[in-house]
Amino acid sequence: MITFPKNLLDGYRTFRTQRLPTEQTRYRELSERGQSPEVMVIGCCDSRVSPEVIFDAGPGELFVVRNVANLVPVYQPDSAAHGVSAALEYAVSVLRIRHIVVLGHAQCGGIRAFIDKAAPLSPGDFIGKWMAMFVKPGEVVEQRAHETMQDFTVRIEKAAVFRSLENLMTFPFVRAPVERGEMLLHGAYFGVAEGSLFVLDKVAKEFESVREQERLAGGEE
Ligand SMILES: [Zn+2]
Repeated sequence: MITFPKNLLDGYRTFRTQRLPTEQTRYRELSERGQSPEVMVIGCCDSRVSPEVIFDAGPGELFVVRNVANLVPVYQPDSAAHGVSAALEYAVSVLRIRHIVVLGHAQCGGIRAFIDKAAPLSPGDFIGKWMAMFVKPGEVVEQRAHETMQDFTVRIEKAAVFRSLENLMTFPFVRAPVERGEMLLHGAYFGVAEGSLFVLDKVAKEFESVREQERLAGGEE
């Protein structure tokens, strides 16, 4: 008896009968030539923020790493195994990625756990340890006076994007191509309820609404 989730089998049938026929050539090409995506996305595991869905990306377009709260650790060439660092190493050194996008989002459970100083979910306290790297030694992250919990949460969700971008630059193999202008780092933030996307203006250090920018540019009615 197949106990594989039925909705996944149904989904695969839809993929096979509807999407695959239109993309079969692309899949064959990708199989023969290998992948050559230009964009790497570092996003959260959250089921509501799939980069392929948000950016309407086809096979071979995005090299994606997802983890709790879209965090990039600092460069740590020690004896431990580092999943994000391994993916970064491959993306930059082998795939020669042109853009790295750190995609944060609203209502992030990882950030929520961090803000609430949630109790460990298991003796390993993996989320607690993972989220702890978000804070620099000696740094205090607290709700400001007159700041609502909602505003505080959004600020920290966005801070996670800033921190990841900062940490990306601690990797020598990221810093070098960025400084040569061969690779660009970007920040983005997805509002789940409205499906809104905000892109980081690195000069202003602010997230700008893509829809609003398009409206101002007259690109959308
Ligand atoms: Zn999240």
